Amino acid sequence: MAGDLYPPRRLAEAAGATRRAGLDALLLTPGPDLRYLTGYDAHPSERLTCLVLPADGPACLVLPRFEVGSAQASPAGSMGLEFVPWDETDDPYELAGRRLAGAGAVGLADQMWAMNVLRLREALPAARQALASTVLRGLRVRKSAAEVAALREAGETIDRVHACVPSWLRPGRTEREVAADIAAAIVAEGHARADFVIVGSGPNAAHPHHEATGRVIGVGDVVVVDIGGTMPSGYCSDCTRTYVVGRPPAEFAGYYQVLQDAQEAACQAVRPGVSAEQVDDAARSPITAAGYGEHFLHRTGHGIGLETHEHPYIVSGNTEALAPGMAFSVEPGIYPGPHGARIEDIVVCTDNGFERLNNAPHDLVRVGA
Ligand code: ZN
Ligand code: ZN
Ligand code: ZN
Repeated sequence: MAGDLYPPRRLAEAAGATRRAGLDALLLTPGPDLRYLTGYDAHPSERLTCLVLPADGPACLVLPRFEVGSAQASPAGSMGLEFVPWDETDDPYELAGRRLAGAGAVGLADQMWAMNVLRLREALPAARQALASTVLRGLRVRKSAAEVAALREAGETIDRVHACVPSWLRPGRTEREVAADIAAAIVAEGHARADFVIVGSGPNAAHPHHEATGRVIGVGDVVVVDIGGTMPSGYCSDCTRTYVVGRPPAEFAGYYQVLQDAQEAACQAVRPGVSAEQVDDAARSPITAAGYGEHFLHRTGHGIGLETHEHPYIVSGNTEALAPGMAFSVEPGIYPGPHGARIEDIVVCTDNGFERLNNAPHDLVRVGA
């Protein structure tokens, strides 16, 4: 399974893409790029761990000597990858730089810490620094069958959490109390960790990125619940459903139906060759036609994989054509205040259409009052 999800051939593929991008090497510190290429889920720290991947020649992993065991136990341990351990009094930047003597341009992990970037610049003063995403984006954006399976598992797991939300969402409880139950369930159902728990009730439902507060949930509140976590596989979940406690406010049922139809239209628009911005338009046009365009405050979606937000972004201006294996959210929202709603599923572009990875019902869920 790990071999399918993190196949050793990615190192050679990335080296080839590095060469074609006109770079001499990639330097990847802990984060999604390192995990994508090696399966090694290392934690960023002041002690340097860095994959040195030359466009030509063997790659190596520079790492603290006491981390060798955990790296060995990860998929990186069975890739024929050379480990270059360093001791507390060594200079690991010098060790990494020595492997790339004469390099003219290197790609750095997008999320590398500034202290690593500047120390690597000192170690390789002649090398222009670029972003590794210029090389890796094209590889990471199209998910393999094993990656889609990992995202499907993440989707099923977060669906089980949403199925329990009605039992926690009761008047008199605070958003924070409900969020704590949800966060525990995200882990209990199988995620390695909860990444975010948005519980936006009443007027807070009108803020797309509201976090849970001490607000007490009342009868008649609309509650937007947007939740996600990271699975042990490394792949992420992200799913939104909108609930109402008791009877919804006047006007709400009307625009919720508009939203539900728009979300479905955007999903149905997904197939190879369609551009990302066409999917955004498929969601936005019916919302605008119904008079709620100014209340749809954000893009329609974002790619998802080893990160919750990654390419491709489903936004006006992104003319990138969808291709099989691309995975992203379809999450239009309408926020007129003093309430709002959002529906979010992760979908994958298939050979001739799309597969939905979240399958909790879309109808407004009325919970007991
Ligand atoms: Zn977001
Ligand atoms: Zn979300
Ligand atoms: Zn999302």
